[in-house]
Amino acid sequence: MSQLLTLAVPFYNEAATIQAFADAILPVLDAVPDTQWEIVCVDDGSSDGTLLKLVALAQADPRFRVLEFSRNFGKEAALTAAIDVARGEAVIPIDADLQDPPALIGRMVQAWRDGAEVVLARRSDRSSDGMMKRQTAAWFYKLHNRLSNTKIPENVGDFRLMDRIVVDALKQLPERQRFMKGLFAWVGFRTVTLDYVRAPRLAGNTKFSGFALWNFALEGVTGFSTAPLKIWTYVGALCALGTVLYAIYIVVLTAMYGNKVPGYASLFVAITFFGSVQLISIGLLGEYIGRIYLETKQRPSYLIRKTYGGTDAT
Ligand code: UDP
Ligand code: MG
Repeated sequence: MSQLLTLAVPFYNEAATIQAFADAILPVLDAVPDTQWEIVCVDDGSSDGTLLKLVALAQADPRFRVLEFSRNFGKEAALTAAIDVARGEAVIPIDADLQDPPALIGRMVQAWRDGAEVVLARRSDRSSDGMMKRQTAAWFYKLHNRLSNTKIPENVGDFRLMDRIVVDALKQLPERQRFMKGLFAWVGFRTVTLDYVRAPRLAGNTKFSGFALWNFALEGVTGFSTAPLKIWTYVGALCALGTVLYAIYIVVLTAMYGNKVPGYASLFVAITFFGSVQLISIGLLGEYIGRIYLETKQRPSYLIRKTYGGTDAT
């Protein structure tokens, strides 16, 4: 009895890696016993010939299916689309740059067959990522997991295996701004973790700049926690308490020694301090309101221009 499994692969300007990806992945898939595979490739609005190469793959090998986005919607949207169309009994999202080792797939399938509904792949060593990225990632996980009820496992990316039951649960989540790591964690299910060493990128550059990562982190925190919104009640209360104490101090001082110096400095400091606190809190409100605004418009998270291949599958 053979089972159909889906590989979900986002591609954004990966022309340089596609052939190597196919060459690396196919023998691995063939080696997993009792399986058939479909490989859903999402071209996320690439501008470098990625699409042509993917279509050529799909024409040569019916296991490849290609979704062409109308523009770049981002990795989260690409993964969402691949998961939406996946037909497999299990789905494995994997990066196109071979930073997620295909060699792990056999063990993931084995763990799934042994009863796991989610098989996580954890990077035991991230030395292929830069110092900065590792440190900021570590801070992000710490902050996120402290603020949010949905705990994201540290050093786990999107590379994982999900049973059909998990995939169907994900498809029910209606939000448009999809922070996949968070959604994956939110749905839960019986989980097993495997360790691997993260390889350096095969070719080309990372598609995430520092600012994109910052926004990604904001997306994660605001999507899964309201703590940053609520904290201002307490910050406000603390400031108010401080102000009252300071007022008492001034009254006492004036009563004892009279009014010596007009307090320019303290006034100025107090005004700028409270001004900043208010701006920060308003900015935070803005982050949430912006997201509420985006969600209420209910625009789809991606648009597909065309799909290629895979029509003969059931
Ligand atoms: N990617 C995508 N859309 C984007 C950015 C990235 O589909 O807007 C894909 C990219 O082609 C790759 C995966 O997401 O397959 C991971 O991207 P990358 O390797 O640049 O991220 P990193 O490994 O540096 O975190
Ligand atoms: Mg990468």
